[in-house]
Amino acid sequence: MSDSKRARLVILDRDGVINVDADDYIKSLDEWLPIPGSIAAIARLSRAGYSIGVATNQSGLARGYFDEVALANMHAMLCALVEEAGGQVDAICYCPHGPNEGCHCRKPAPGLLEQSREELRLPIAGAWYVGDTAKDLELALATDCKAVLVRTGKGRATEAALDAATRSAVTVVDDLSAAADYILGLAIPGTEI
Ligand SMILES: [Mg+2]
Ligand SMILES: [Zn+2]
Repeated sequence: MSDSKRARLVILDRDGVINVDADDYIKSLDEWLPIPGSIAAIARLSRAGYSIGVATNQSGLARGYFDEVALANMHAMLCALVEEAGGQVDAICYCPHGPNEGCHCRKPAPGLLEQSREELRLPIAGAWYVGDTAKDLELALATDCKAVLVRTGKGRATEAALDAATRSAVTVVDDLSAAADYILGLAIPGTEI
């Protein structure tokens, strides 16, 4: 496998990146609403040859706010919409645990990326990682991913709180559509096109 092939992986956080986030959790298919442009962006990356992995903390499962069936319905919808747009989601890994369970998969722990690596048979180092929270950035940088922060979801608050070292290590863009443009080499953040 060539180096360029190895790097063709994009890991996406879900809530606040792909779909609209909510403080009281996304509990049902009715509440799972794609952010405008996000589905098309995933499809563009997929059609360009990138494998697409989703890595998402879903402590609402442990808290009893929704069940595995509801979550599966949301993920089936995500996959169907991306397929309708001509792409595919290759893996969805989620942490079902609460914050005090000491699991190895709740971000910023690396378990979800290890699961993605096993499922996709692709190395994580060098992959792109798009997220909206400090946990996402911490995980991305700890695993040698190329970190992209979007301003959707909690992204604006995350951006405002970035320390200088993190700010210099991540690329900040408006949304997943702009992230796809950047990853595909179509736009340089901060410049008008
Ligand atoms: Mg998020
Ligand atoms: Zn977990």
